[in-house]
Amino acid sequence: MFEVKEKAVDLGAIFGVNVFSDAVMRQSLPKAIYKALRKTIEEGLALSEEVAEVVAAAMKEWAVSRGATHYTHWFQPMTGVTAEKHDSFISPTADGKVIMEFSGRELVKGEPDASSFPSGGLRTTFEARGYTAWDCTSPAFIKDNSLYIPTAFCAYTGEALDKKTPLLRSMDALNKQALRILRLFGNSAVRRVTTTVGPEQEYFLIDKRYFDQRKDLILTGRTLFGARPPKGQDLEDHYFGQLKDRIAAFMSDLDSELWKMGVSAKTKHNEVAPAQHELAPIFNTTNIANDHNQLTMETMKKVALRHGLVCLLHEKPFAGVNGSGKHNNWSLATDDGQNLLDPGSTPHENMQFLLFLTAVIKAVDDYADLLRVAAASPGNDHRLGANEAPPAIISIFLGDQLTDIFDQLQNGGATSCKNGGTLSLGTSNLPDLYKDSTDRNRTSPFAFTGNKFEFRMVGSSQTIAQANFTLNTIVAETLGQFADRLEAADDLPKALAALIKETICAHRRIIFNGNNYTQEWVEEAARRGLPNTATTVEAIQAIRREKNLALMEKHAVLSRGEMESRAEILYENYIKTLHIEALTMIEMARRQILPAVIAYKGHLAGVIVQVGAAGGDVSVEQALCGEISSRLTAFSQNLERLDKAVDQAEAVTSSAADKAVAYRDLVFAAMAPLRQDGDRLEELIAAAYWPIPTYSDMLFNI
Ligand code: ADP
Ligand code: MG
Repeated sequence: MFEVKEKAVDLGAIFGVNVFSDAVMRQSLPKAIYKALRKTIEEGLALSEEVAEVVAAAMKEWAVSRGATHYTHWFQPMTGVTAEKHDSFISPTADGKVIMEFSGRELVKGEPDASSFPSGGLRTTFEARGYTAWDCTSPAFIKDNSLYIPTAFCAYTGEALDKKTPLLRSMDALNKQALRILRLFGNSAVRRVTTTVGPEQEYFLIDKRYFDQRKDLILTGRTLFGARPPKGQDLEDHYFGQLKDRIAAFMSDLDSELWKMGVSAKTKHNEVAPAQHELAPIFNTTNIANDHNQLTMETMKKVALRHGLVCLLHEKPFAGVNGSGKHNNWSLATDDGQNLLDPGSTPHENMQFLLFLTAVIKAVDDYADLLRVAAASPGNDHRLGANEAPPAIISIFLGDQLTDIFDQLQNGGATSCKNGGTLSLGTSNLPDLYKDSTDRNRTSPFAFTGNKFEFRMVGSSQTIAQANFTLNTIVAETLGQFADRLEAADDLPKALAALIKETICAHRRIIFNGNNYTQEWVEEAARRGLPNTATTVEAIQAIRREKNLALMEKHAVLSRGEMESRAEILYENYIKTLHIEALTMIEMARRQILPAVIAYKGHLAGVIVQVGAAGGDVSVEQALCGEISSRLTAFSQNLERLDKAVDQAEAVTSSAADKAVAYRDLVFAAMAPLRQDGDRLEELIAAAYWPIPTYSDMLFNI
């Protein structure tokens, strides 16, 4: 695993203690078995029954020695969260006792009932069987006395029903194409290219006392009502601010829990919004980074409760306050330790770097719609384009230096090949780009940060699997196209220079180094023909586009049927999310807000009568009562409108896509005016009458 240098003394004792790591495997497995397993892990070969049997026995011994009584196949269904079903190791013996057993078969394959997980029509409920298959590339670990075995999940008929399967397939696809490119550069030593990911995770923490009193937070993860507090993030005093004791205690507890499971939690700090924080791990191969991010999210929620806190992972828990995202740092690594997006120190390496860089640029431009849908969710619709997160328009930030080099290449000057065969830019080597940290742009959805790309659109609660299998596949496709062309070239250096130049010319439009939050960029992007996909409902359409179906099919990442099912699941998820939000809003409005406002109005009316009868001045009370009254009328009318909108949307049965559109245009649209009235009423009535915790309570009272 990773070496974590900071606090090595404390960490040494706990880091990875609950992981069936390479070191544990080496120690506990016979040499030949260990070698066979490594080969399987590294080269993706099939695992023999014999090897599985021995590994299972060793795993069980180790797990039991660490207090485990159960094992579970841990998988990632289309719900976006993980699923687990625990079986104990016990097996009865003839004398009425039990022994601990765990077979190779149990390790390799599980058969959970698949009928209760979303399948988007891939299987009907009477064919409910599903399989989980051991993913030996992600290490097993122990949590809460169970041995967790990372697995892929598929239907009886073989279709993927999860987020991990396409991710693993995409890593193979990318490996295959990237190796072709490396071979062209004369590199025959590299055996495998993987993608690496470091996801920075944002989250909110609020006091559980307040959470428990908010139906909206409990049922939907976000506040559906809530007036702006007098103080928001205006003073910018929270970002990197000093940690409160309670938060620091939570973070330190969280770190320990994660470290024990081998998650390399590295950086922690306060974020821009009050009560918002961030955790970043050290990057890992994509598959493990994905598993670890799921574990991180789960552990955050669990550890928060221990501290009387609730961790909110929703993309927009509070209106008017920055929401949370996940920065997906992504790069390509070889098994001999090269980062393929690191500019090299020789012209040869630079050319290779430029080719990979260009491949990513082309991929992002050609398949911006697929990347957009990878970050699409009802929660993220509140963020993207809201001047706090990247806009819904995908563009790439390259920085001035690289853009300048690309400009030179585009204008022809710098691509000449010198010395017959030596690939050169015709100038000296690229400058030390990775050392240049002044060149930063926080507004770009897809930024080159020196030796990796940072995809910043992903939502905080989303799995990173889709973003990454999309990235891997689209880059595999461009690398494949490049390899096709270069392999057929007579004069490789010449062909390479021409290819880079041509690709830059064709995809220059996707590069934008300016401020992505401005209206000018929205207009400029439209002129450049870049798609601006504002909502999830529109974004989902990308999945059914022929070019995208063909792409996923060609690289064997998702079949047409699997793609179709994913579109269906996304529509259904959108519909259900909005349905629950609308019903929750209606219930809070009817049963909490209306009664509170009516009670306060009654109180005011009483005062007016009493004080008025005694001849006192009641003009202030009357004015207030009047404003409350008219707001209350509007509130109640908007409540009825929302109620009706839900009925109308529910009545749409032609297709999930149509129904999702109805939910967006009718239901979502009807929620905003109701909220506006509700929030104004909160500002008008006495604090003692308001039935739910306020934004000030939740954001500042930790
Ligand atoms: P920032 O300034 O954005 O916080 P960092 O250098 O701290 O940048 O990196 C942020 C994240 O990027 C971390 O999770 C880090 O591990 C990850 N990262 C660094 N190098 C790579 C790489 N080659 N591939 C993927 N992720 C990486
Ligand atoms: Mg970052």
